[in-house]
Formats: sequence, structure tokens, C-alpha cells
Amino acid sequence: MSVRVLARIRPLLKAELDKDTIVTAEKTGADENVAPSIVRIPNPKNDAESFSFQFNSVYDRETTQHELFDKEVAPTVKHLFNGFDVTIFAYGVTGTGKTHTMRGGKSLADRGVIPRLLSSIYRRCRKMEKDGETQVSVSMSYYEIYNDRVYDLFEPPEKRTPAGLPIRDNNGKTVVVGLTERPCTTLKEFEQLYDEANVNRSTSATKLNAHSSRSHAILCVTVTQTTATHTRVSRASAIDLAGSEDNRRTDNNRERLVESAAINKSLFVLAQCVEAISKKQHRIPYRESKMTRILALGQNNGLTLMILNLAPVRSYHLDTLSSLNFANRTKKIEVAEVENEPVLKMAPPKTTSSVGGPTMARQPL
Ligand code: ADP
Ligand code: MG
Repeated sequence: MSVRVLARIRPLLKAELDKDTIVTAEKTGADENVAPSIVRIPNPKNDAESFSFQFNSVYDRETTQHELFDKEVAPTVKHLFNGFDVTIFAYGVTGTGKTHTMRGGKSLADRGVIPRLLSSIYRRCRKMEKDGETQVSVSMSYYEIYNDRVYDLFEPPEKRTPAGLPIRDNNGKTVVVGLTERPCTTLKEFEQLYDEANVNRSTSATKLNAHSSRSHAILCVTVTQTTATHTRVSRASAIDLAGSEDNRRTDNNRERLVESAAINKSLFVLAQCVEAISKKQHRIPYRESKMTRILALGQNNGLTLMILNLAPVRSYHLDTLSSLNFANRTKKIEVAEVENEPVLKMAPPKTTSSVGGPTMARQPL
């Protein structure tokens, strides 16, 4: 199964209403019932020509938050409860709607993918608990990667160690060592914790110029299902990546240029990984940045959804084209769908014969 790639074109902002729109969504045929799957954009060197890119799906400007969630994210919840990990990431230039898509606004209608995903997870938990044997617990961690350093967003910026938290491999999965993991049993609890952590993210934004567009925010939700005999753990990761703009083209001064080169390294490594995977090369440079180790595109076991956020106006032309090229290679990545198998619970301490750690059980929960 490959990475599912969908493009979302944001509406014009108030200040853009008089601007030319150059990015359009198209259908492959005349059938009314088929959703658009093509993005068309003019050739920057010759307006009479255009390029088209085909994705799994393309969402036009009027797409609501509800519609996007319903069509793309809601179906992944079932897989999560069946033991698969789910990764959803937003890629795009600063100002194209990544945060709007992932986090969204305050009103119910404006809520983004993340609060809707949690709401859906809790709904399923309640149903399972009502139905009987399975107990479900949900916990979250939330961190950012800034300049290749990992910071816990549950820690206020003044308490952070400047070097950040270390990451390690644990049975083929990358884990951040020392990260706060908070249980959250209701949507309300989740929202409180998520808002609290987001304040920590924006506090640092006032200290560092445009911090939030230069850091990757990673939310990890762990769902643990327990029956009388088994425990099964699966994870949903929702990632709001740093802006993918090419800083060589902006009017950054020299100092900023050096800084942004370091910050953008991870996106550069991500592009190299995608390139290497799509060319089926042996060496994939995952280990060259923390973000690529954590994202582990094509290596993580489960479902991956990439949301490519696009702005429709000409001022983004070259960056939009490079985002489209990146996404075009991403959709060719194969992801192995491997289930997190239920693990037999440890026998009670008295039965000494079972000492030796949990064993893998074959039958599903
Ligand atoms: P990014 O996180 O990619 O930098 P934002 O999510 O902050 O971009 O979006 C930039 C601006 O565009 C914000 O003012 C946001 O509210 C607005 N915006 C983005 N997508 C949409 C959308 N689908 N509908 C309405 N407004 C949007
Ligand atoms: Mg943002």
C-alpha cells in the first residue's frame, strides 16, 4: 500500500480577493460523481502551457473541514482500532493552510483534523466499552522539532534543555526519550492539554521570528486496548510540518539564510528520502535528520496520509510547483501494512513458570 496523497487548495484570503488564481482542481472525466484528482498549474516560464499532477484526491477551495475529515481521516479510525498505526502529515509552504487543516479554528465547524480525529476515537471507545470486554485508554504526547532538536511541548520553553530530547530506536520504531505522556480520557481533557501545549508552542514564537513556520509539530495519540487476556497498542501521529518554502528565493538576509538552511535541512532530507525510495535505491538517508527518523516514510508500519496544502495565487507559483513535484514522488512510496499484534498480558507474578517477558499471541483481539 502506498502513501495516500491528497491536495487541498485553500480559499483566497481577504487580502487576495483581487489576485489571479492559478491553481485549479480538475476531474479526470466528465462524470459528475467522480471527485477531482488533478491539480493544474501554469508553466512559470510560459503561461500558455500548464502542468497537471494527479493525486488520490484533490479538494477544492470550498471543501469544508467536516468534508475533508469525513472523506479522508474518518476511515482510518477503524484501522487504528484494528491495530495499525496511522500517520497524517501536512506538507506545504507557510500560509497555505497546514495549521488550519490539522488544528483548525475555535468554532465547531472550523475544527481541524486533530480534534475531529480525537472525537471519533472517543466515540469508538465509548461504544466498545458499552459493548463489553475491551477497555480502551488514550494518552497523548506532543512535541516539536526545531533546528533538528526535539522539544516537549508539555514543558514551558524556559524549562527546556537547549539540546532537546534524545531519540532512540526501539524494536524498529523511533522513540523520543523522556517525553511527557499524558492520559486523556475525554475529548474535553484532550482539548485542554492540546491547548495548553499549543500555548507553549506560540510562546516560543514571540522569541524567535516565525518560529511556528520553522518547526515541525508532532502529536502522537496512543490507543491501548485491553481485554482479559491481551493488550494491543496502536498510534495515530498527526504532523504539522515546517513551511516548505525555498528560502533562497525569499529576501532573507545572509544571517537568516544560514539559519533557515539549518532549519530546512530536515525537509531537504525528507525530499532526498522520497527521491531515494521512489527510485528504489538501497540507501535511504532517514538517519540524517530527526524528523525523517520519526516520520520513517515507507518504513513505518501502517497507513500514511499526506495532505499537500496549496495556495491558489501566483505569489506562491514556484514554491507550489516544487511542493507538487515533491508530492508527486511521495505518492509512489510503498508502506508495509503491519499490524501491531496483541501481546499476551503477563501472567500474575505467582506463576513463576511464565517469567521471560510478554509473548506474542497470534489471534486478533
Ligand atoms: P500554514 O500553517 O500552512 O502556514 P495557516 O493554516 O496558518 O497556514 O493558514 C494561513 C491562513 O489561511 C490563515 O489565516 C488561515 O485561517 C487561512 N486558511 C487556510 N486554509 C483555509 C481554509 N481551508 N479555509 C479558510 N481559511 C483558511
Ligand atoms: Mg502553520
